[in-house]
Amino acid sequence: MSNIIADLHIHSIYSDGKLDVESICRILKNNGIKFFSITDHDSGKAYEESKKISKEYDLFYIPGIEFSTVHKKKQVHILYYSKNISSIEKELVARKTDRLTRILKMVELLKGFDIDVDVEDIFFEAEYSESIGRPHLARAMVKRGFVSSIKEAFEKYIGDDKPCYVPKKEYTVKETVELAHRYNGLAVLAHPYENNVAEFIDEMIACGIDGIEVFSTKNNWHNIDYLKQKAFDHSLLITGGSDFHGDGDYQKCGLDEKNFEDFYNAWRSL
Ligand code: AMP
Ligand code: FE
Ligand code: FE
Ligand code: ZN
Repeated sequence: MSNIIADLHIHSIYSDGKLDVESICRILKNNGIKFFSITDHDSGKAYEESKKISKEYDLFYIPGIEFSTVHKKKQVHILYYSKNISSIEKELVARKTDRLTRILKMVELLKGFDIDVDVEDIFFEAEYSESIGRPHLARAMVKRGFVSSIKEAFEKYIGDDKPCYVPKKEYTVKETVELAHRYNGLAVLAHPYENNVAEFIDEMIACGIDGIEVFSTKNNWHNIDYLKQKAFDHSLLITGGSDFHGDGDYQKCGLDEKNFEDFYNAWRSL
């Protein structure tokens, strides 16, 4: 895509990303990104730091959070964008504690496969995280050689349908969209082709989403055309982002000036 200037989907160490806010800003600057959002899973902890550091790097920060929800047993991620994400934090406390108890249950299940993960290793991986998750567990498994890669951990043990997977407490798309609106924000369906959520796109639209993440490293060009049309037909915003977690090189993905302008105007008038 030509001239991408906005990346609205990035994870930091405050959820399951590997990089801190400053390292992220440095990478974005080097890649010609001007507008960005850090959208940690179920956490707005990056807010204050992002506000401050973005200025030092002459970047424009859009506050965001990526919420985990479930629809018909499938994981659906909803991106929330607002002017200020600190007020919604109090609604996230239960999600954070639930994430911890759920990871400990997964550790117990792994023991049935002779995999005795040291909980301290997971806590080390999640040192700054408020949203402990499967990537931290997978990294702890790789560290002790129980699996040779994160991919193997997910494919054999902790992926959505695998034997040691434990779901998080389930929140519906509708209640999460309503939460986003109650807290003066936009709700956007993230990467619809991850977990094959696209087949339910009309149901997601009926839940009141404001936009669709059309440009994602997880959507191919065919997907992108389809989603663009859906957004157009239903007068929804188009968003985009890399979903960068700090693994490997940064893959630039997001919005060009024209698409960003529509999003920016909607965000500005919140
Ligand atoms: P959780 O929120 O704990 O259920 O973990 C979900 C996170 O795990 C996603 O946001 C991704 O960062 C990561 N993830 C999910 N599936 C995979 C996979 N197959 N391989 C690697 N990472 C994955
Ligand atoms: Fe993640
Ligand atoms: Fe996601
Ligand atoms: Zn994400």
